[in-house]
Amino acid sequence: MSAPASSRPVRVRFAPSPTGLLHVGGGRTALFNWLLAHGQAKRMGQEGAFLLRIEDTDQSRLVAGAEQGIFDILHWFGIDWDEGADKGGPHAPYRQSERLPMYRDAAERLIADGKAYRCFCTPERLAQVREQQQARKEPPGYDRHCRDLPAGTVAANLAAGMPHVIRFRMPREGETVVTDLLRGDMVFQNVNMEDLVLLKSDGFPTYHLANVVDDHDMEISHILRGEEWIPTAPVHLRLYAAFGWDAPALAHMPLILAPGGGKLSKRHGSTAMEEFRSQGYLPEALMNYLALLGWSLDGEREIFSREDLLDLFTLERVNPSPGTFDYAKLKWFNQYYINHIISLDDLTMRVLPFLANAGMIDAAAIGNPDHPDVARVRPAVALLKDRLETLADAPEHLGCFLVDQLPPYDTATLIPKKGTAEDTLAALQAVARVLPEVDLDDEAAAEARFRALADELGVKAGNLFMPIRVAVTGRTQSPGLFETLRVIGTARCGERVQQAILALGENGMAAG
Ligand code: GLU
Repeated sequence: MSAPASSRPVRVRFAPSPTGLLHVGGGRTALFNWLLAHGQAKRMGQEGAFLLRIEDTDQSRLVAGAEQGIFDILHWFGIDWDEGADKGGPHAPYRQSERLPMYRDAAERLIADGKAYRCFCTPERLAQVREQQQARKEPPGYDRHCRDLPAGTVAANLAAGMPHVIRFRMPREGETVVTDLLRGDMVFQNVNMEDLVLLKSDGFPTYHLANVVDDHDMEISHILRGEEWIPTAPVHLRLYAAFGWDAPALAHMPLILAPGGGKLSKRHGSTAMEEFRSQGYLPEALMNYLALLGWSLDGEREIFSREDLLDLFTLERVNPSPGTFDYAKLKWFNQYYINHIISLDDLTMRVLPFLANAGMIDAAAIGNPDHPDVARVRPAVALLKDRLETLADAPEHLGCFLVDQLPPYDTATLIPKKGTAEDTLAALQAVARVLPEVDLDDEAAAEARFRALADELGVKAGNLFMPIRVAVTGRTQSPGLFETLRVIGTARCGERVQQAILALGENGMAAG
C-alpha cells in the first residue's frame, strides 16, 4: 500500500445502496474490503476496521427489505463488519438517510466558501439543454447556467421560495490526477468535468456529496469500489480539496465481464449473490471463486479457504484488468468443496433446507443435528455426494432414499435393453422371493447371492441388476447397486420390487 492515505490505519467500508439484490461484483468488492481490513492490515499489526454503510439517499430506487437482504447475504457469505447500520459504532449513524443535516451543513459550507452554488434551473430547462446538446452531438452535461448568478438574483430567488439544487463549482482549468492503487495515475482535464449536483431540491444529498462527507467523517483510509466510479473520481478528489480534507487512497475493482464479453448482467444468467445461494452454491466456494476473479496468489494455486484468504490476500495482487465470470468454473469449485472440503456432517446439514423444500424431510430437521431425519439423510449423502454439483441437486439424487413412495415407474426403463417384459417380470419375482433371506448390510454377500440368482435364471448379471436398480431407485443411474440397497434397506427394497412387478404386470407386458 503506497498511496497518500496509506499511512493511516486501515479503515475501509462497503457502501451498498439498498436497491435490490447484491450483485456478485458487489459481493467481491465487499470481500476485498474485508480482506484488506481483517487480513492484510491485521497481519501488519493494525486494528483494521471494516464498515458497512447503507447509501440510501436515492429514495426513488429504494427496495423494501433490500437492506436486511444485504446484511443476511453478507453473513451467509462469511463476512462480518466492525461498525455498521445494524450495529452502530463510533461514527453512527451508518445509514445515509439518517445523516441528512451533516450533508446540508457541508453543502452550505461550500457555498459560503464560494466552492459550490445554488442552481435554480427547472427540469424543463435542463431537458431542453440536453436536447440541444444531443442535436449538436455534444456530450451531455449541465451548461453552468447558474454558476455565476448575481448575488441579488440568488437572494430574490430564495426569497421567492424557488426550488433549487446545490452544485459543485468544479475548477475549469488545469487537470486532476487520480492515483489508483491498482492502475497508477490517471489524468483528467478539469474542463471536461461537470458541475455535479451535491444536494438535491428535496434536501437529500447525491452519492457524490454523501460519499465524500461520510468517508471523511468515518476516517476511511482506502476506498475499494467498482470501476464505474472512476469517471467521477476527479470530482470527488476536488471535493475533498474544497473541504480541505485529505482524500482516502483509491482502488477501483476490475470489471466483471459476461462469458461472451460485455458487462455481466441479468441477461447472461444469475448475477446476484442471493441467486447463487438459492441455487445451492456454498459460500466457501463462491468466496474462493470471487476472490480469484481479480486476485491471485501466484497465478497457479486455486483453492483458498476463508482463512487462507485472510492469511494471503494483498491488495497489490488485485489485477485491474477485467475478469470474465465463468459459470462452469464456479460450479467446479462448488463440486470440489462439496466433495473434498466440507465434512459429511456439515454437508448433510446443508442439504436439509433443499430436501425440506422438496417435501422430502421434516423442515424441523434444519439446523437440528439430533432430528431423526438427519440420520436418514446422512448415509444417502455419503453415497451420493460426488454426484452433487450444487446443494440444489440433492432432492433429485437423494429423493429415492428418503421418500416413502417413488413416483410411478416409466416401465420401459425397468426392462433391460436386450430383455423382454416377461423375463424382467420373472426376474423381479425371483428377486422378491430371495430378498427377505439376504442380509443387505453385508454388501459382498448380497452381491454374491444376486449373481448366483442371475445364473439360476440364466441371465447376465447386468440384466438382473438393472431392473433391481430401477425398481428400487426409480432411476437408471445410481451409486453402486449394493451400497444403494443397503442404505434403502430390506423392507423398502421389498416394497419397491413388488411395486415394479405390479407396474410391469399392468403396463409392461403390453409394451414388452
Ligand atoms: N453506493 C455506491 C454503490 O453502491 C457505493 C460506491 C462506493 O463504494 O463509493 O455503488
